[in-house]
Amino acid sequence: MASKKRKRDKKLSKIMAEQRIGGLFDTAQKAASSGDMKLAHNCMKQAWEIKLKFKITYPREYKWMVCRKCHHFLLSGENATYRVKKGVMTINCRDCGEIDKVPFK
Ligand SMILES: [Zn+2]
Repeated sequence: MASKKRKRDKKLSKIMAEQRIGGLFDTAQKAASSGDMKLAHNCMKQAWEIKLKFKITYPREYKWMVCRKCHHFLLSGENATYRVKKGVMTINCRDCGEIDKVPFK
């Protein structure tokens, strides 16, 4: 009985963690668009820690917004370059130089 309850709690906290990550991405986007990149990076750091703790994978649209190497928030024209070529989107993080390729349709 006890283990069953724990499993359910774990599932519930995972949903809460996903919502928290969604909120952090939301805040980061707003912060970045108002020029506060420091806050945006901070949000991404928190989201990354939650992601690791709960073993969550980011939804696809979020993967484009964060550098997988330095975990900085990526804003086109600010610290990132996005290029689409032959169905592949190349994301270049200018903070650490990481180049990520994501299939794009
Ligand atoms: Zn980076």
